[in-house]
Amino acid sequence: MITRMSELFLRTLRDDPADAEVPSHKLLIRAGYVRPIAPGLYSWLPLGLKVLRKIENVVREEMDAIGAQEILFPALLPREPYEQTNRWTEYGDNLFRLADRRGNDMLLGPTHEELFALTVKGEYSSYKDLPVILYQVQTKYRDEARPRAGILRGREFIMKDSYSFDLDDAGLERSYLAHRGAYQKMFDRLGLRYVIVSATSGAMGGSASEEFLAESEVGEDTFVRCLESGYAANVEAVQTPAPPALGDEEIAGLPEAVVHDTPATETIATLVSWANDAGVFGDRQVTAADTLKNVLLKVRAPGGDWELLAIGLPGDREVDAKRLEAALEPAEFAMLEAADFAKHPFLVKGYIGPKALRDNEVRYLLDPRIVAGTAWITGADAPGRHVVGLVAGRDFVGDGVIDVAEVREGDPSPDGAGTLVSARGIEIGHIFQLGRKYTDTFGVDVLGENGKPVRLTMGSYGVGVSRLVAVIAEQCHDELGLRWPSVVSPFDAHLVIANKDADARAGALALADELDARGLDVLLDDRTSSPGVKFKDAELLGVPWIVVVGRGWADGTMELRNRFTGETRQIAVGAGAAGEIAAALG
Ligand code: ATP
Ligand code: MG
Repeated sequence: MITRMSELFLRTLRDDPADAEVPSHKLLIRAGYVRPIAPGLYSWLPLGLKVLRKIENVVREEMDAIGAQEILFPALLPREPYEQTNRWTEYGDNLFRLADRRGNDMLLGPTHEELFALTVKGEYSSYKDLPVILYQVQTKYRDEARPRAGILRGREFIMKDSYSFDLDDAGLERSYLAHRGAYQKMFDRLGLRYVIVSATSGAMGGSASEEFLAESEVGEDTFVRCLESGYAANVEAVQTPAPPALGDEEIAGLPEAVVHDTPATETIATLVSWANDAGVFGDRQVTAADTLKNVLLKVRAPGGDWELLAIGLPGDREVDAKRLEAALEPAEFAMLEAADFAKHPFLVKGYIGPKALRDNEVRYLLDPRIVAGTAWITGADAPGRHVVGLVAGRDFVGDGVIDVAEVREGDPSPDGAGTLVSARGIEIGHIFQLGRKYTDTFGVDVLGENGKPVRLTMGSYGVGVSRLVAVIAEQCHDELGLRWPSVVSPFDAHLVIANKDADARAGALALADELDARGLDVLLDDRTSSPGVKFKDAELLGVPWIVVVGRGWADGTMELRNRFTGETRQIAVGAGAAGEIAAALG
């Protein structure tokens, strides 16, 4: 194919769009790949659509290679199946809801577990039919609270979602590993730098789940790694190791807790400096990690009422909003405001302690570090009063454990092998052993070998196909523009005519024909614009190989530039030129 730039539906922009925060967003708009329609909604122009299709094809090939079969559901769906799994409610404001002309509730699908489970139930009835993996490449809708960074987080986006159905846990494990391998192959082929991190969240139970995170400074996900052991996890999934607890006898031997006057110590910093001035630990220096901070939230389960929740954690740590969100999901939460404090006078701001929480039946969850036998400096529930030496398991207990404190670089690795380092990433894929959550709801059984019904077990696996366009752009660009890897580039070669001479122009057109005849997809810049404009556009568009027919033509040479590596070389004009270029392109 030859695409003439004089006819291509493309306008590049000289300036960055005003509201674009991240490089991929700026460049994809400036280079004319996508255009904004409304927050989180983008149109795909010719170049963007070509990249998107190439990514889709790589994804499809790797799915087909593990025996997955492609199907396609509507995006517009009835409420009923989502009502049965309670996701109509649990999805909350993220779900696009609408009604048809008869008043039936409908939704735009955010993900399709319900439909796949129902479809397998409808079609299959015998163990002999299993296992099966089905997938689709389809438009998803989520009314994201913060659509961001262009197509990185849209409200309409394209996902590859697949679902495995197996008779038993061993089968599910095989399907899961097949997906894991397919994802590695597709992301390797796309030239991505990524890590596979554990996404198993404590609150969700033990089922295996991993995320594929593309390494990127602009990523919304933070992950940690232990370089000694290879442990890697999304911070949302890090399980803080608990220190050893003391036995009852040892606890009984600890000094009594003592309440002190601690005027003007509302913050951890002022409390620590009071404690050191007072010498409460004798010679030992008191640090923020010796204090117990009680953070107050209000929490609302889907369809429920707001309730108070207190979280006790070491004073040197903040609550991590994303870990909190993951732990409380699907409930929503908010920090307490002045009005809430006014409503509950027992909450003395800056001096909240476990006693008032217990006396007033506030649900109180503790950081895993607060085990029986640990002693703390904490609020005594009166203005200007703190208690020193309050012992967990003796003087106070929580209603459970919540692991939502920030994870920091240098923290011990949960596997005990060393310390953690942290980095940021963008989620490109997620694989998840769902188990029987959906097959239980819909009663997805087949007749087993022994004539008894077998409940199927399910896996669910997603790839952010449209997001990948932006992720690759994020990892592959420089200050001049995009730099696509060949596999996803909208064209194989970008042939720039930078010479007004009729002979050079005719030679360039003939070269384009020859490259086309060799099966290459050529973008031919045949416009009348100046060479400077054309070079700038070539750099911005990011096709990995640029052929320049310029001043050297008269001396029998043209230039081949690699946008990816920056290398350039001269090619002799003549019969061998197309072959030499094609060979360089691989
Ligand atoms: P995130 O934490 O980024 O919101 P998620 O956990 O909601 O992702 P899944 O439901 O597992 O994502 O969806 C599968 C894949 O779809 C994700 O790995 C991601 O690549 C992609 N994806 C999810 N939400 C969006 C979005 N709003 N825009 C573009 N791609 C998305
Ligand atoms: Mg999401």
